[in-house]
Amino acid sequence: MAIFEYAPAPESRDIVDVKPSYGLFIDGEFTDGTGTPFKTINPATEETLAEVATASADDVDRAVRAARKAFGVWSALPGAERAKYLFRIARIIQERARELAVLESLDNGKPIRESRDVDVPLVAAHFFYYAGWADKLEYAGFGTRALGVAGQVIPWNFPLLMLAWKIAPALACGNTVVLKPAETTPLTALLFADICRQADLPAGVVNIVTGAGESGAAVVGHPDVDKVAFTGSTEVGRVIARAVAGTGKKLTLELGGKAANIVFADAAIDQAVEGIVNGIFFNQGHVCCAGSRLLVQESVQEELLVALKRRLARLRVGDPLDKNTDVGAINSAEQLAKIRQLSQIGESEGAERWSPVCELPERGFWFPPTIFTGVAQSHTIARDEIFGPVLSVLTFRTPAEAVEKANNTPYGLSAGIWTEKGSRILWMADKLRAGVVWANTFNKFDPTSPFGGYKESGYGREGGLHGLEAYLDV
Ligand code: NDP
Repeated sequence: MAIFEYAPAPESRDIVDVKPSYGLFIDGEFTDGTGTPFKTINPATEETLAEVATASADDVDRAVRAARKAFGVWSALPGAERAKYLFRIARIIQERARELAVLESLDNGKPIRESRDVDVPLVAAHFFYYAGWADKLEYAGFGTRALGVAGQVIPWNFPLLMLAWKIAPALACGNTVVLKPAETTPLTALLFADICRQADLPAGVVNIVTGAGESGAAVVGHPDVDKVAFTGSTEVGRVIARAVAGTGKKLTLELGGKAANIVFADAAIDQAVEGIVNGIFFNQGHVCCAGSRLLVQESVQEELLVALKRRLARLRVGDPLDKNTDVGAINSAEQLAKIRQLSQIGESEGAERWSPVCELPERGFWFPPTIFTGVAQSHTIARDEIFGPVLSVLTFRTPAEAVEKANNTPYGLSAGIWTEKGSRILWMADKLRAGVVWANTFNKFDPTSPFGGYKESGYGREGGLHGLEAYLDV
């Protein structure tokens, strides 16, 4: 229960003009799709936001042909000219930041505080960062030759940010793109299409095709696509790896995770509690690198759990557009069902479930922040990605045991270490099989820093200098 009540602080929706229907963005124009349109809803209210076109294989073919045609012009531009467009896009994103943030929260369910303060600023930062590389490719060490047409398929958890991770480096290197956003969150990608027009980006350089998994499969499988970039589930990642095998297409996959967030007895406990909360309850836990497995040193487990539960009781769950909200809506009914099912399995396998008292809105898709204690390594909730606001707590006694347990997962995307000792951080980071290791912080992102996984978390790196390699003919 809250110690004191907050007055509601709703962000206005007026800044966004949500249209009743949206088409595909191909060759610089919005056009109808030939598939059956679908509806995108606000997960916090279940209200229909808009009807969106579905791209059939023919529509995807049109988009790829437009991208191919534009590739000749775009790749021939001097890097400094491409940079001007990317800088312009970055600035327009900043100018239209509030509009983008509100639309992202409406379509995705994430708190406005996060879309406004994390997602959109990072999106602009990515475009600024890769704009800076466009005329300096020869210094990056991967050559300067673009690959051609990139087919990019992205998920619903960070719709605009994943778009930026994909489109900014692709364009900086001279490629053109056909991007498919997730079915439940297409709207900010379509607003981005409008931004491309506003920036006078040459027609066909960016094409956005909306639809479900089949539209994504058509993008990935198109014979004239030279490079495939995918972020999403390990299951679909496998399907794509099979589809692309032997075709000569270059592939990067950014898949699931089950990160260990490791707290040693000497850590600053209050700071660690903030890091744990940010690690798993940020974005409702819809984060591939979420710290979903808390490994806490046995001697401080009790103290830490008391502090963590006290903190969770203060989290405000509810209206994503309220500026006080910490935890928003679950993105879809399907995802909610999956979180519920895995939580039920957690209980039936013998872990102890705890959530703070919190009133959930009646309509929409909601799940309270949840902790499971007494979790064993063999439990499903210690192994499977839940992709929701659910934390599994395990314990360890020695650093070596922490390493063993942290690495005991098919994934390897990220990890966190909380300790006062610098030498221990370095020792641990060296042994953890994870693409990103945070120390005394968690879920910190920066365009200059490469991101990607080990094992079933995928391959290839996005972000930073390394992110250029994926889009150049090395
Ligand atoms: P998917 O992997 O199915 O979705 C990611 C994207 O791929 C979406 O745009 C999707 O379209 C598209 N897609 C689906 N099937 C194909 C296909 N055969 N070929 C090409 N593209 C395809 O993730 P889900 O949304 O189904 O989520 C399932 C689980 O995946 C989650 O519960 C979570 O555990 C995990 N996940 C992990 C993410 C990460 O960043 N690591 C991100 C999202 C999910 P459409 O939206 O229409 O399905």
